[in-house]
Amino acid sequence: MRTLIRDVRVFDGERTVPRADVLIDGDRIAEPDGHPADVEVDGSGKTLLPGLIDAHTHTFDGSLAQALTHGVTTELDMFCLPGNLARQRELAAGNDDVADLRSAGMLATAPGGHPSQLMAGFDASTLEAFGDAVGGFDTVADPGQAKRFVEARLTEGIDYLKIVVDDGAVHGARLPALTRQIVAALVEAAHANGLTTIGHAITAREATIALDAGIDGLAHVYADTGPDDPAGHELAARIAAQGVFVVTTLAYFEAITGQAEAADHALPGCADNAVHAARTLHQAGVSLLAGTDANPFAPVHGAAMHRELALLTEAGLSNAEALAAATSVPARHFGLADRGHVAPGLRADLLLVDGDPTRDITATAAIAEVWRRGVRQPR
Ligand SMILES: [Zn+2]
Repeated sequence: MRTLIRDVRVFDGERTVPRADVLIDGDRIAEPDGHPADVEVDGSGKTLLPGLIDAHTHTFDGSLAQALTHGVTTELDMFCLPGNLARQRELAAGNDDVADLRSAGMLATAPGGHPSQLMAGFDASTLEAFGDAVGGFDTVADPGQAKRFVEARLTEGIDYLKIVVDDGAVHGARLPALTRQIVAALVEAAHANGLTTIGHAITAREATIALDAGIDGLAHVYADTGPDDPAGHELAARIAAQGVFVVTTLAYFEAITGQAEAADHALPGCADNAVHAARTLHQAGVSLLAGTDANPFAPVHGAAMHRELALLTEAGLSNAEALAAATSVPARHFGLADRGHVAPGLRADLLLVDGDPTRDITATAAIAEVWRRGVRQPR
């Protein structure tokens, strides 16, 4: 099957080409060769983009199908229990009507540490959605267990390691947390096995522990420093100097701020702080990756990505920079060399939208077509 998209504006992952023809040949993007195509799509007035990559999700039954409907062609899951991971991975590998998946699998946390307190509050049907015996979740109690923990995750087929550095402050709780020594031992064991490490940290103090350990990326912006707090600027400079990337999850902070204010706990103003942190990090030259923390509740898989892009522009990214944060930048940091750009030879994971998101970011949600590995999705 050959599909020719004619006269379309192309955001190629980094730059915008005002008018081009793009050929989809089978499951790949190809150079138009003048031979007839099976299908022609009129791209005038539309913009073609690489399929979006959500760099922070929690993937459950139904998530990958929902994400694809909204133009998210790859989800980077940041915590998935082994039974669920195996199921979602099989689904993503064998079907073109769902988003593709990479996953951290079982995250590293202390016994009783985050997110066990969240899971303890779930009802039976939610727990069932996790697809595993939650009581059996593997944890790390001392640095000597780091190597074993990483090796167990490798046999489960993880793509990168997520390490929780969270003492519960943002949730208004006190929780057991991994010590500095354990975090450092986990990073070392992961790196020895060629795994990228991503730290879950919500506060500047927690982020510093992850940076001290030599983490590669952070799964959230820090959300406890306001605009006038020099600590936020100092931290951004350090993150930039260490070459660490940050997944923004601004849609997540926006979602939990409403919930937390209702419950009268958690960090006040964390959504505003998060946008401010993203601005500070961007100004410092840090690589920002668009991620939503989509889960079975809120933010919502796929849909939240379009909100995340708008919030990134509120944080001072240009539209093109926000779009890159959802395409080429996560592809680069997660070693996904076959996607994230519109270029010959790459996977035909593509999003066609009405209008021009490089001028109006909300246009990303005006979806005309989605292709996953060259397969045009029903609309
Ligand atoms: Zn998360």
